[in-house]
Amino acid sequence: MRIKRRYSIPLAAVAVLWTAKHFLLDTAAEPSGTFVIDLPALHRAATSGGALPERIEVERVGDFAFPRNFVVAGGGFRMHPMVLLSHRVVWPDRSLLIDTGMPPDAAKKMPGGKADEAAYARVQAAIRKADAIVFTHEHPDHVGGVAHAADFALIESEVLMTREQLDGPKLERGDFPPGALDRLKPIEYEGLYQVAAGVVLQKAPGHSTGSQLIYVEVANGNRFLFVGDIAWSLDNIREQKGRPAIAHLLMKEDRGAVAAQVQAFGRLPPDVHVIVAHDPVALESDLKAGLYRQGFSGL
Ligand SMILES: [Zn+2]
Repeated sequence: MRIKRRYSIPLAAVAVLWTAKHFLLDTAAEPSGTFVIDLPALHRAATSGGALPERIEVERVGDFAFPRNFVVAGGGFRMHPMVLLSHRVVWPDRSLLIDTGMPPDAAKKMPGGKADEAAYARVQAAIRKADAIVFTHEHPDHVGGVAHAADFALIESEVLMTREQLDGPKLERGDFPPGALDRLKPIEYEGLYQVAAGVVLQKAPGHSTGSQLIYVEVANGNRFLFVGDIAWSLDNIREQKGRPAIAHLLMKEDRGAVAAQVQAFGRLPPDVHVIVAHDPVALESDLKAGLYRQGFSGL
């Protein structure tokens, strides 16, 4: 059938837009290999000395939202709620923080951003008290609490960034006090690294060069895998569908590596609780199940 010339340009534009939408928004990446999570080895490393932590606590320092299509490829254009969190691993006499959120003024600048200033104040109090602070990765919504801590010199020996996080191109160096990053002694490891009894690190570059998994085993036998932003929603893992190409392009991710990691999370047994950094639905469901507690205690 011959298409009249006056329709051919709009039709070509529609075809280009449809193709762009298909490849940029609707298609998730294929894994570039196999990412291995060796649970027996993580368990051995976690339990190789010292008392396991008693519990995990969480603070919700802010909320924001992205279009669902940006979070899960092909997810449509409705807004997808997201959270900003900081977790605290607690022993009777010690504590360790996993990620520290970002300051309220920065949280409010996120799309649809809201901040809980009281929660952020508790994170700051926990930073001052912590024996160690580790990060799933070096993005400002994860290291921001430490970067803007009131007295960096007081806490710098507890800030345990990896070499890849400290040297990573996505670390916002200007957020830290002048000279502060030069004084940090980064963790350098291959394989698995026990940062404290019950807490083990495993590198997982892709979302950023400094991305890592943080495995936590608590005294009652519950085990957790903090995966940061490798997935933004548990739906990425349940549906085995990661972010779309546009998100990978904008964040300069290694999309094949991220897809292999999401695939590996999908193979984990259900009693390994995967904690993604920005999923409010998973947060509420975990709190309801009593896996961890809302609110940092005893500060
Ligand atoms: Zn994040």
